[in-house]
Amino acid sequence: MARIVMKFGGTSVGNTDRIKNVARRVKAEVDAGNEVAVVVSAMSGTTNQLVTWTNEIARLHDAREYDVVVASGEQVTVGLLALALQDIGVNARSWLGWQIPFRTDGIHGKARIGEIDTTVMRERFAPTGDRGGQVAVVAGFQGIGPDNRITTLGRGGSDTSAVALAAALDADRCDIYTDVDGVYTTDPRITAKARKIDRITYEEMLELASQGAKVLQTRSVAMAMQHGVRVQVLSSFEDKPGTLVVDEGEIVEQQVVTGIAYSPDEAKVTLVGVPDRPGVAGAIFGSLADSAVNVDMIVQNVSQDGKSTDLTFTVGATDLDRAHQVLDGLKGELGFTDIVSDPGVCKISVVGVGMRSQPGVAKTMFQTLAEKGINIQVISTSEIKVSVLISADYTELAVRALHTAYGLDAEGDG
Ligand code: ADP
Ligand code: ASP
Ligand code: MG
Repeated sequence: MARIVMKFGGTSVGNTDRIKNVARRVKAEVDAGNEVAVVVSAMSGTTNQLVTWTNEIARLHDAREYDVVVASGEQVTVGLLALALQDIGVNARSWLGWQIPFRTDGIHGKARIGEIDTTVMRERFAPTGDRGGQVAVVAGFQGIGPDNRITTLGRGGSDTSAVALAAALDADRCDIYTDVDGVYTTDPRITAKARKIDRITYEEMLELASQGAKVLQTRSVAMAMQHGVRVQVLSSFEDKPGTLVVDEGEIVEQQVVTGIAYSPDEAKVTLVGVPDRPGVAGAIFGSLADSAVNVDMIVQNVSQDGKSTDLTFTVGATDLDRAHQVLDGLKGELGFTDIVSDPGVCKISVVGVGMRSQPGVAKTMFQTLAEKGINIQVISTSEIKVSVLISADYTELAVRALHTAYGLDAEGDG
């Protein structure tokens, strides 16, 4: 017997037939003698619709009310899945975030999970009388903040709900069921030559997720790494093994580049004529941070005349308006001459732990892009990653060319 957490994403619970399919998968694990908690997302498209509605009412909205609205999609799917399970003879009940509770901090819209009380859930796993143990059907993406109000965990947050629950329950496995049958060398929607990876390290998965591979939410990977949760990504529609996220020691043959991620949700900002004196960068990035604008890549040119220079950096596309607001306020005080922004950019990242010991990865990237006539606007690197910022128009071309250049293409495909 094992204790497992199964998580089903939006497409997997996209209609009532699919919810019945999920119920059958859950029943199979229960029949095999396992204790099961299931975490579900809202039906695909639902959360997008809810976000659109909040924006239509007010663009700069009260984040607490935003959370009340966007958390509602998961309430529907937990109820429906509990009903589908009961209908096929499985003892099941639904749980909303506040009922368990999933305690979070108070950052509405991007809350972090603190503590999860699993006492009652654990008690109910045990069979009583003539009834089998109870399956917990848990709403992903939501919790309750210190102000006793509903919080949500950021888009894609059900993955994090599942991993956090697996950690709190000391589960043997956390199986993330989705609409692809594992983690691929790049988004299979961008190239048919993407290849499924059998095992990937926590570190690589963390980099790929944070650089845009949305198959797992970044925080879910960080949490799995921290608590040693055994995560598997697999298909809810096909019966075949997926991808295991594991420690580096469990990987036998290490590629130099394991995967390629892209993030189109970036915007580039250039401040022209920034005075070249101590404290200016601190003032600019300090003010952006105070306004919760995340800055990613940064380049500052060497000053030609010792007086002023240009400063370029990237922010999330959704933060661009706020960044402009902050920078406009600083322009007079700091004395830079202009703010130029470009939302039409995309960040492409190649990731692999093998880079630590193998030189030349960046060179291959730059040469490959040059051969395709793609201009690199900004570069950043870490120990296991090289990222470049390019025009969004070339995203697919760049990903496909790099996929081939690093020898990642699946054999036998066109
Ligand atoms: P769910 O609703 O199940 O959480 P998501 O849409 O959040 O599913 O994540 C699955 C999607 O992630 C896939 O359909 C795929 O297009 C995308 N994706 C991006 N990068 C990768 C990758 N490297 N491997 C697999 N899927 C990826
Ligand atoms: N339903 C939420 C979203 O669309 C959470 C999730 O799918 O993980 O972001
Ligand atoms: Mg997801």
